Parts: sequence; structure tokens; C-alpha cells
Amino acid sequence: MEFNYLCSCCKKRFEIEPHLMVCPDCSNRQEADQPLLGVLEVELHGTADKNFTIDSLLPVEKEYFPSIPVGWTPLWEPLNLRQEWGFDFLYIKDDGANPTSSFKDRASFLVSAFARKHGINDLVLASTGNAGSSMAGIGAAAGQKVVLFLPSKAPAAKLVQALQYGATVYRVQGSYDDAYDLSLAYSRQRGGMNRNTAYNPMTIEGKKTVSLELFQQLQKVPDYVFTATGDGCILSGVYKGFRDLKKLGLIDRIPVVYSVQAENSAALFRAFHRGKFEKIPGTTVADSICVDVPRNGFHALSQLKAHGGRVITVSDEMIIQAQAKLSRSTGLFTEPAGAAAVAGFMKEKENLPKEATVVLLATGNGLKDSSAAATGIRVPENTIGSLNDIM
Ligand SMILES: *Cc1c(COP(=O)(O)O)cnc(C)c1O
Repeated sequence: MEFNYLCSCCKKRFEIEPHLMVCPDCSNRQEADQPLLGVLEVELHGTADKNFTIDSLLPVEKEYFPSIPVGWTPLWEPLNLRQEWGFDFLYIKDDGANPTSSFKDRASFLVSAFARKHGINDLVLASTGNAGSSMAGIGAAAGQKVVLFLPSKAPAAKLVQALQYGATVYRVQGSYDDAYDLSLAYSRQRGGMNRNTAYNPMTIEGKKTVSLELFQQLQKVPDYVFTATGDGCILSGVYKGFRDLKKLGLIDRIPVVYSVQAENSAALFRAFHRGKFEKIPGTTVADSICVDVPRNGFHALSQLKAHGGRVITVSDEMIIQAQAKLSRSTGLFTEPAGAAAVAGFMKEKENLPKEATVVLLATGNGLKDSSAAATGIRVPENTIGSLNDIM
């Protein structure tokens, strides 16, 4: 397999090299508070049959991979929900089963390998929480140093995780968007490789592995994939995996992808319907998708338009209800962002054919933000001293 970069804006091709992050021409026109211009996609050339290994479709050789088992997450067949909702081919991909308990490990893994291949030992990033704890954990396995810019409001578990793994953490007064800008300025001045989502081309490329796995697990293409969207990188990763499979002639269609956003942090949704990105500060219980400027917005939007994808919104209440519903019906406890994908399906399912193969991406483990989950349950007020108190 041969690989190069392709600019998602001007379609110019570049050789893959570690200091090229965005297209030098398109990024010159970058405006403040707008999605990235010149996001680079990895383009693959070669042939593969249906017994391909996922490693062989990645642009970094296996010898550079960190020794931590990322991916190959279980594909659940939730019997109770299948029966209740009447979808016999409903699946849930449990990416909370990754080593640091979120989907972000797919991106961090490839970034780590890419840095190692080029002798770079320092990684810098901004994160709402999961990307940071992920890079910290994978960096720990690879012996790399990680510097993380984290909004001060990030859930405690994600901060504790990053510090446990030994990252240097700067807590930022302000939003994820502020942290993003600080981390870019930091890596420009201090060097190292920046792992910011969409900015580092290996993030989208790493995230494509979910689609390659789905194809191998299902032995076919699903009809619908639901994923929560913040920056739009998972969305593009999902498309990239299926597009690679199509390019290799292993599948003949791309699934309909539903991007699910939180009602009060829905920049991609607004842009999808109005054609432009506006920075409107938002809030949602699903901190992982609380993003004012989706960094991969332009790229994600063009993928959605090209492949008949949809963008929908769900309220925080629907997210919290979907989280509890999923937990109680399946035993899978996912964080609010993961539950947003489930809520999106619950909202949309009347419009889908019951015989469709549907995959919901549960992108993070529920224990990552137990205080959000606590709003969807009743914690007993009274404590008991003996059984006499309740009998
Ligand atoms: C980051 C994240 C998302 C959203 O991914 P984007 O690439 O930012 O759209 C969804 N769920 C979880 C758990 C995440 O950590």
C-alpha cells in the first residue's frame, strides 16, 4: 500500500511528513473562529482482498505501534432493545472498551506511532477531556511525553486519568475552543507534535479503523451508523474507513451516517442547514461534544453532503434518558456523548426501515462522568444501619 496526503479543500497532493499538518496554501486563508481550512486526508493506493488486516491499511508501519491494545472493541447485539424497538439488526459498538475508555484511543494510537516513526517524543494537545486522557495513556505506553491543555470545567475523571498517566496538564480558564488555540500556539513555540483533532491528519485516519472493524465484524456494510458529533472528526473517520473499503472494491456503497448533536451545542447542525459556521457559545451535559467551532467542520460537512448523511439534534434530557435506557436494557453504561447517538436513533427510528442494519457508536464509558449520569437516576437519600430500617 502507498500513502500520501490530499488536501480536502484544494485537492493538492503532498508527501506525508511529520511537520505538515494542514495544507500550506489553504491554511493561509484561515479565519478566526472558523473550522480548519486545508485539513489533510491520507490517500491510499493499492489492492486488498476481504481478508485484509487493518494494519495494512494504515500509513504507519506496525513496528512503530505503541504496545497497548486499541480497537477491536466488541459489537453488542442488544436483545432487549431489538425486541422492544423491532430492529432485529441493531448493534452497538462499545468503544468505551478501549484502554482509556473512549473512541479517542483510535486517533491517539496512530498519532503516537507516527510521532515515534519520526523520532518525536513530545505530544501536545487540547481536549474536552477524552482526547487528553487518551493521548496521555497511549503516550505512557509508548514512552512519550504529553502536554495537555484542558478546560477547567472538564469532568474530574478525565483530569485524574490524564494525571494518572503522567501527562503535564494545564487547566485553561475558558472553553475547549480557547484551549485549542493555546495548544497550537504552544506547539508552534515549543515544538513537539500537535495531536489536535482534525489538525493532525492521523486523527481522522486513526478513527477510520472503526469502519474497517465494523466491516469485518458484520461481514458487510451497515445501512445506518449513528455517532455523536463535536469537532466532526469521528464522523469523517467513519466515512474515511468506508470510503477506503469502497476504493479497494470491497464494498459498493457507503452507509447513511447520522451525526447527532446536542441541541444547545449544535454548530455543525446549523451549518448543515444554513451553510455557514457561526461561533455561538453552547452548553450540554455531553461535555465531549460541547464544541463552539467544530475544527473539522468543513470537511465533515462535505462528507455528509457527498454521501447523503444527516445531522440531527437531541436535548440534554433525551441524552440523559437514553443513557439510563441503554444502561437498564443492555448493561452498557456509556457517557452522555455516547448516549447522544442512542438518543438520536430513538428520535429517528420511526423513519427507518425495521430490517435495516443499524450501528450506534457508544463512544465513551459512563464512569468518565458519573455526576452527569447521576442526574438520570435517584440516589437513595437515607442510609440504613440495619435491615430493620427497610423491612
Ligand atoms: C470526542 C468525542 C465525541 C465526538 O467526536 P468528534 O470527533 O469531536 O466529533 C463523541 N463521543 C465521545 C465520547 C468523545 O470523546
